[in-house]
Amino acid sequence: MKRIFVAGHRGMVGSAIVRQLQQQGDVELVLRSRSELDLTSQQAVATFFQSENIDEVYLAAAKVGGIVANNTYPADFIYENLMIECNIIHSAHMAGIQKLLFLGSSCIYPKLAEQPMAETALLTGTLEPTNEPYAIAKIAGIKLCESYNRQFQRDYRSVMPTNLYGPHDNFHPENSHVIPALLRRFHEAKLNGDDKVVAWGSGKPMREFLHVNDMAAASIHVMNLDKQTYDENTEPMLSHINVGTGVDCTIRELVETVAKVTGFGGKIEFDSTKPDGAPRKLMNVDRLAALGWQYTYSLEEGLKDAYQWFLDNQDSFR
Ligand code: GDP
Repeated sequence: MKRIFVAGHRGMVGSAIVRQLQQQGDVELVLRSRSELDLTSQQAVATFFQSENIDEVYLAAAKVGGIVANNTYPADFIYENLMIECNIIHSAHMAGIQKLLFLGSSCIYPKLAEQPMAETALLTGTLEPTNEPYAIAKIAGIKLCESYNRQFQRDYRSVMPTNLYGPHDNFHPENSHVIPALLRRFHEAKLNGDDKVVAWGSGKPMREFLHVNDMAAASIHVMNLDKQTYDENTEPMLSHINVGTGVDCTIRELVETVAKVTGFGGKIEFDSTKPDGAPRKLMNVDRLAALGWQYTYSLEEGLKDAYQWFLDNQDSFR
């Protein structure tokens, strides 16, 4: 039986990968909480890999946060993410592990990248300054994987997700991303009997959203591709694969769908004093399509699932 280490198994993506690997069965999962294994400690990670006899690694551990957190703690974001990646990728190599999947982010692409953003846009322009330290660490993760492949013939792959949502998301009322923020706000408005809900910005920006279960499925799909297929569809120094739906919608459409899913019947207003952010952020997912994967959750189905998780778990994050 394969022994698989999922780093970051308590996070939104890591926990979704764990759920799917458990459903598939026939694998032995190796999981360590933060108190059991400090991923920023080179010694601790090296000792762990030397003693655990692991076959495959999903690297879903990262320090993540919204724009405010990224701006306030840039040193924490670049330091912790670089350390986690260096420790895991190097120690996996030293322990003779051939297969690893690194999870990145769409923020690796330049601020003004042509839309939809293809893998080839990497390192062609200036990054968004607010999360540049985080993005640099994620770019370094891709380059670590490629370098161990080139120098030591490892098979370390990378996937770059679009905006994700779903179970185990962060539902903080101000600091969260748009989907959890709206699910919570519309839910509370319904309970309070409010006649209107206010969303941020103009409603005109366009975003692509992927349910985290689809992200987990795509990650496992990419990990399990045979090496020849992966190599034929990527390049040694441009090896990462975008993961998204390839479809986007306006924030207004999103807000209306959230209203429907939460059962809020009142008015919707937009507060144009709040920032819109980028006008559009869409991934080109041709590479992934050529590798035989497509998303399954429509936005409405995915929002229903995320809302149900919120209802079942809201007491735990109050
Ligand atoms: P972004 O994709 O990095 O811009 O991150 P967000 O998920 O925070 O925001 C996406 C879009 O949703 C932006 O245009 C926001 O203005 C808009 N938006 C509308 N209502 C909200 C809200 O309540 N919270 C957040 N975070 N964004 C909102």
